[in-house]
Amino acid sequence: MKKGIHPELKECKVKCACGNEFTTMSTKSEIQLETCNKCHSFYTGKRVTARTGNVQKFKEKYGMK
Ligand SMILES: [Zn+2]
Repeated sequence: MKKGIHPELKECKVKCACGNEFTTMSTKSEIQLETCNKCHSFYTGKRVTARTGNVQKFKEKYGMK
């Protein structure tokens, strides 16, 4: 068991510009977002859609899998 080969995943605090905060697992300890899944619908015209494609793109964009 060697250490230092794989990036260490730790609990990451994600802060959004809307004030929303949540945690995810990342190699970073903190991430600043301009939009999150909570306020995203506001920026797109308050259309509440549950299209998983958008969520998928969002997660890929910010490295959340
Ligand atoms: Zn937000």
